[in-house]
Amino acid sequence: MVSTSTQPFGLLVIGSGPAGVHAAAAYVEAGGPGLVCLVSADPDEPYERPPLSKAVLAGEEPAEGSPILEDDSVWAQIDLRLGTHVDTLDTDRRRVRTSDGQELAYERLILATGSQPSALPGADPGARVFTLRSLEHGRRLLDAVEDSRSVVVVGSGFIGCEAAASLAGRGLQTTLVTPEPAPQVARLGDWVGARIAEWLEAVGVELRPGVEVEGVERPATVRLDDGSSIEADLVLAAVGVTQSQALLTESGLLIEDGHLVVDEELRTSNPHVWAAGDVARAQHAVLGRALSVEHWGDAITMGQLAGSNAAAQGPGGTGTSGRWSDPPGFWSEIGGHTMKYSAWGDGFEETRVVEHPEGAFTVWYADAVGEVVGVLTHQCDEDYERGGELLVRRASLSEALGAATTGESS
Ligand SMILES: Cc1cc2nc3c(=O)[nH]c(=O)nc-3n(C[C@H](O)[C@H](O)[C@H](O)COP(=O)(O)OP(=O)(O)OC[C@H]3O[C@@H](n4cnc5c(N)ncnc54)[C@H](O)[C@@H]3O)c2cc1C
Repeated sequence: MVSTSTQPFGLLVIGSGPAGVHAAAAYVEAGGPGLVCLVSADPDEPYERPPLSKAVLAGEEPAEGSPILEDDSVWAQIDLRLGTHVDTLDTDRRRVRTSDGQELAYERLILATGSQPSALPGADPGARVFTLRSLEHGRRLLDAVEDSRSVVVVGSGFIGCEAAASLAGRGLQTTLVTPEPAPQVARLGDWVGARIAEWLEAVGVELRPGVEVEGVERPATVRLDDGSSIEADLVLAAVGVTQSQALLTESGLLIEDGHLVVDEELRTSNPHVWAAGDVARAQHAVLGRALSVEHWGDAITMGQLAGSNAAAQGPGGTGTSGRWSDPPGFWSEIGGHTMKYSAWGDGFEETRVVEHPEGAFTVWYADAVGEVVGVLTHQCDEDYERGGELLVRRASLSEALGAATTGESS
């Protein structure tokens, strides 16, 4: 039986990740009209995901979840419904239907449904293959790790590299399998790939580059396309994320590459609906084209913007709308080495490495016309901050290198 809430919520948010939580909080803080409800399929109180592949998996922090909001007083003004999946969205009637049979009406809707981890193709049903996206996934993985001595991590993206270093650091015999010649070469270039490989090997990770996984046989034997196989106690699949929810594909909202298309103010193709975080393909106000980014800090920025923009809209609206203009970026920690990366995220033609004393470095990325399109730093926060400014100013590589006086460029 479907039960319908008669009074529409002033704002309904779907998703309790950083985008959803900050959207709801920003709306409340901006004094947006009506009641606010946040619905999430995740049963846990909103928590930070980044530690899951780092300190939590390494056994240095408990798998309890650090809260997303520092000041939690705003929750008193939000109707938080956890463990509740939103199954369907009717944008004409401005209603959603949830897994517990509720129909919720809204004036404004913010979709912040994030990403879902991709499955590892070719894995036998019942094989000990894990993914890592949520706290619940983290707890399941940690339970399995307790009675395991060996693990194969598939995928050399940031989560794969971080998780492999964490697992090796707690004493598991860890093999990282990747089709790339070295971790993250396609995204970050050969030089950085070699550094990450060194860091991983230094904590005991065995690298198997240049191979694809063909299948996983029960319980956890990984078959590779070079004819070899690796027997392990468990497999962690870190092979990227997808956007494939029926909720979105059947919503009638404009979608590109699975992402919801939004403008600079994070409005979807429907005037009552905004989207923020991993799920959005957002027009960037400085770059002048659309980007899909999957970073924690950007999800916060976009969530805050969507929340305050929604508050400014419609009868009783407060404040003014803002545009998404920050350079995208994130931090990663691999075996105790922190990297900070800010980039438009759609490739580069040229890299310049600047090495600083004591192993610190900066890598500048430029496009075909010599414009800075990214910066990656290790122990050089000054360049990271400056890199963000140069990106936004669409500055040249020579300007970036002109100020790089502390190291050698190669
Ligand atoms: C292990 C791990 C480590 C990471 N480390 C870093 C890092 O160091 N730096 C960095 O920048 N990024 C990192 N990321 C990526 C970062 O966490 C994401 O970019 C960020 O969480 C995206 O936020 P979001 O709010 O858009 O979506 P999510 O955080 O994915 O939240 C989406 C929410 O929507 C809910 N939901 C989805 N569909 C429905 C539905 N139909 N009904 C109801 N609820 C629904 C989900 O349950 C979830 O609560 C990491 C990710 C993981 C998994």
